Amino acid sequence: MAVNIPFDNTYGTLPSPFYTRLNPMPVKTPALIRFNTELASDLGITSGGPKEMALAFSGNSLPEGADPMAQAYAGHQFGGFSPQLGDGRANLMGEVLGKDGQRYDIQLKGSGPTPYSRNGDGRAWLGPVLREYVVSEAMHAMGIPTSRALAAVSTGEPVYREQGGLPGAVLTRVAASHIRVGTFQFFAARRDVTSLQALFDYSVARHYPDATNPTEFLNAVIARQASLIAKWMAVGFIHGVMNTDNTTISGETIDYGPCAFMDDYQPDKVFSSIDAHGRYSYSNQRNVIVWNMAQLATCLVLLMPDADQAVEEFTQAVHAMPDLIEAEWRAAFGPKIGIAEATEDDTALITDLLERMAENRADFTNTFRALGTTQARDQFLNPASYDQWEANWTKRLVSEADPQTRMNAANPAFIPRNHRIEQMIQAGVADDFAPMGRLMDTLATPFGDQPEAQDLAHPPTPSEVVRQTFCGT
Ligand code: AMP
Ligand code: MG
Repeated sequence: MAVNIPFDNTYGTLPSPFYTRLNPMPVKTPALIRFNTELASDLGITSGGPKEMALAFSGNSLPEGADPMAQAYAGHQFGGFSPQLGDGRANLMGEVLGKDGQRYDIQLKGSGPTPYSRNGDGRAWLGPVLREYVVSEAMHAMGIPTSRALAAVSTGEPVYREQGGLPGAVLTRVAASHIRVGTFQFFAARRDVTSLQALFDYSVARHYPDATNPTEFLNAVIARQASLIAKWMAVGFIHGVMNTDNTTISGETIDYGPCAFMDDYQPDKVFSSIDAHGRYSYSNQRNVIVWNMAQLATCLVLLMPDADQAVEEFTQAVHAMPDLIEAEWRAAFGPKIGIAEATEDDTALITDLLERMAENRADFTNTFRALGTTQARDQFLNPASYDQWEANWTKRLVSEADPQTRMNAANPAFIPRNHRIEQMIQAGVADDFAPMGRLMDTLATPFGDQPEAQDLAHPPTPSEVVRQTFCGT
């Protein structure tokens, strides 16, 4: 049975500088690793047999209605501007309308070189494909806006990275769109106002139909990103490469590279091997997103009739963002300690806990999950430090109805811990996908207790700790 994808494509109606039409480059022996049946059903996709799926989700065969293209974009990478990036190893295959009425991109990642590949090989190796698959689906299960994973296929071809020759793979991902801050920068840098206007109109229609002008659009993107970053922080997530080309207009998490979840709470934690200065550390994410939104604002100035007025309105919008993030942060962290509507006073209580956790090397996830029990106390090198906080917290909780239920819904028991991801990848390289299956099963219900999966809730032993996540994705 053939794979059937009910394509309904619109990006290809945009002017030619937006993309280069080209097909994925076929691979040697595609084999299906995993397919997301539930997501496929939500998108009206008929899966077909494993062989047909391997062909379709490697790019070896083109499902009817596909209009493959590589999208153009630019971006600030670690603060330095690259006017020409674009999909160097991805093909947008087309769009579908989900059962929820929303439009989604279907994209193959690792599907061969494109005119935007620069010196890259256009490929992905198995490790990052499995990491993105598991982490993006875990984020979704935790209620965090994200691209999704539809399929993973091995290619039967080696890919060469700093670690040596590695098995190649292709990920099929689904996103509300792949429009990035960097897509706006691509046209703004060229002073191509016609294309920029077309991109703006398209983005408004697709993501913010209520926005009637660039200021409203900017404010809407800022609101979504403020909410997103607060949600990341509330689960200890570090994206790792928050370049403007990895920051979406839709407000979804995208481009999982050297990302990771924290084990013990360290606010200055960096995972990426290429982030020597901590630009994209856990706590700096809330600053960097403001900087990224300022880059979007700079692009939008070109669309305003009066530049002075634009600068004034946009400056105001960007300057208001830290307070917006603070409010979202409070809304995300309040329920983690059982508080429905956290006030500014409650911020001090939350911050006090976090500071004590940092001093005492407490596990971020397990401390929040166990608050009020000895298991939380046991996370602290000096348990008395926890006791002092708990005494204050208990007084505050008196006025909250059923805090435990709220906490259980806000504090996941299971996150994709980095050492488990590494173990899964090592097994996958040896053609054993059982660890991936187990991670996927457990992370599908991260707020459930799942006693049989307790080992997946444990932080790494000293020998299991992953020191760095390579960017050689
Ligand atoms: P990323 O770090 O995945 O967000 O990628 C940054 C830029 O490098 C994007 O333009 C990618 O398409 C491109 N890129 C990353 N890896 C490769 C690769 N193996 N081959 C070609 N282009 C790549
Ligand atoms: Mg990227």
